Amino acid sequence: MEYALEQARHSPPGPTKFCVGAVLVDADKNEILSTGWSLELPDNVPEDPGSTHAEGCCFRKLAFKHSVPEERLCEVLPKNMILYTTMEPCNKRLSGKMPCVDRILRLKDCIRVVYCGIKEPENFIEQTVLVVGRKRLAEAGVEVIFIDGMEDQILAVALSGHES
Ligand code: ZN
Repeated sequence: MEYALEQARHSPPGPTKFCVGAVLVDADKNEILSTGWSLELPDNVPEDPGSTHAEGCCFRKLAFKHSVPEERLCEVLPKNMILYTTMEPCNKRLSGKMPCVDRILRLKDCIRVVYCGIKEPENFIEQTVLVVGRKRLAEAGVEVIFIDGMEDQILAVALSGHES
């Protein structure tokens, strides 16, 4: 999670976004497979309805690397992966783009656990939608675990660029 927070610090601050970091790990080999941070990748590729969220960037980089569509990543990746993300995956996006929960659900056969640093603050999306996101992952067999102890640091980074 420390390393995911390091990723989050790369994200450009802004009042309408959160600065989030994500790290995907092969749990069997304890090896980092990919990283991502919010707005790491551009979103202006017409043929790629890509996500600029940390998790989406993390997956898209792997998809480019392996030359497979993002939704087929489980075909080429280890089957026991852990995703670390400083903020829980989003379940709804005001932009209408695919939420990270849906992106993770497409990879539910290889992502077993999602460790989250904090819950999403209710700045943009109401709490009920967030609760549903957690439930959808759990029901699909993807364990969602919140890590205690780093909330203050993670939130400070996530809210970079927001008015205090
Ligand atoms: Zn997201």
